Amino acid sequence: MSPNKENNTASCDVVGCSLDVKRSISSSKIKNTLSSVTLSSSSRKAKLCKIHYKEFKKASKKDRKLEMLGR
Ligand SMILES: [Zn+2]
Repeated sequence: MSPNKENNTASCDVVGCSLDVKRSISSSKIKNTLSSVTLSSSSRKAKLCKIHYKEFKKASKKDRKLEMLGR
């Protein structure tokens, strides 16, 4: 049996946000995409609530568009 420390906290990892978690995303990805947010967790995967997940999705979409335009 492995310890499941990660399941202990079920709130968003963004500092100042305590909403319920919707998705787990790689921390580095979040930092690259949402440079305005600070994560309270230092683990590789950070948990995002639906609002921050939406923001992340929006921002990464924009990124992809820019990448495509740059080609
Ligand atoms: Zn949040």
